[in-house]
Amino acid sequence: MRIARNIAELQTFLSRCERPVGLVPTMGAIHEGHLSLIARSRAESTTVITTIFVNAKQFDSIQDLSNYPRPLEEDIDLLADAGVDLLFVPREEEIYPLGFSTKVQVADLGSDRWEGAIRPGHFDGVATIVTKLLLMISADAAYFGQKDAQQLAVIKRLARDLHIPTKIIGVPTVRDNDGLAFSSRNISLSEAERSAATVVYRSLETAHARYSMGERRKAILEQVCLEALSAEPLIESIQYVGLVDPDSFIEVGTGNGFIEGSALLIVSVTIGSIKLIDNVILNGLGCPE
Ligand code: AMP
Repeated sequence: MRIARNIAELQTFLSRCERPVGLVPTMGAIHEGHLSLIARSRAESTTVITTIFVNAKQFDSIQDLSNYPRPLEEDIDLLADAGVDLLFVPREEEIYPLGFSTKVQVADLGSDRWEGAIRPGHFDGVATIVTKLLLMISADAAYFGQKDAQQLAVIKRLARDLHIPTKIIGVPTVRDNDGLAFSSRNISLSEAERSAATVVYRSLETAHARYSMGERRKAILEQVCLEALSAEPLIESIQYVGLVDPDSFIEVGTGNGFIEGSALLIVSVTIGSIKLIDNVILNGLGCPE
C-alpha cells in the first residue's frame, strides 16, 4: 500500500493508477464497518483509495474533536491487509489552507432535518470535505455506510446537484454479534455502557418485527421503538425516533398516520457522553437491510 501525505503525492499516484478507481473516505480508527466498504470497493475497482482525515469542520465541540481516536499505525496495517492501494492522509493545512472560505451546504435535508437540526453546521462540514475529496480524486465510485443514512442522502444529493460524476454507493451496516453497529466511538463506551448500547438495535428490531407482522401505524411503530429505548436506564437522552423517506429524510405517515411503501426508521440516543445513531429500513420484504 502506498501512502500519500499531501495533494501532490496523491496527484502523482492518480496520474498513473488504473481505472476504475474506488474511493472510501473515513476519519480513521478503522473497524469492520470501514472494512466492508473497502471490500465492496475492492470487488468493484482496480484501484482502491482510502482517505483518513478527521474533519474538524463537522464536529460540534472541540472536546469531541480532541477525544476522537487516531490510531494511525494500527489503521495503516488494517488498510494494507484489506488490499487498499493508496491511503491518502492529508494534514489539516493541506485541506483547509489559510484563507479557505468555501462551504458546501445541502439545504433542508442537510440543515433542518434530524441530525442537521440538532447538530447545526455538521452536514455543511461533511458536504464540504466530501465534495473536495470527490473533486480531488475523481473516482469512478465512492462508498459510504448506510449506518450514517442521512449523511449518505446528503452526499447523494450534493453529487447529483453539482454534477459530480462519481457514483455514490451505499453499503449495508456492519454489526457486532450483539447487533451494535460498529462505530469508531464505541471504544469510548465503558463496559456497562457498551452492554446497554445493544438496546439501540434491539429497539429497531422490535419495531421491524411489528412492521413485518403488518403494523403500519406510524405512531405505534415509533412508540414500540421508544419504549424499548426507555427501558434502558443507561440511556441518558433520546434525541429522536423517526420514520422518514430515505432520500429526503422527510417524515412519512404524517397525513393519515399510516406508512405506505418503505420507510427508514432512525434513532439517535446518548449513552454516557457518547452519541449513537442507527437505522433500519422497513421495506415490506421481511429483510432488515
Ligand atoms: P467515519 O470514519 O465514521 O467517518 O466513517 C467512514 C465511513 O464508514 C462512512 O461512510 C460511514 O457511514 C461508514 N461506516 C461507519 N460505520 C459503519 C458500519 N458499522 N457499517 C458500515 N459502514 C460504516
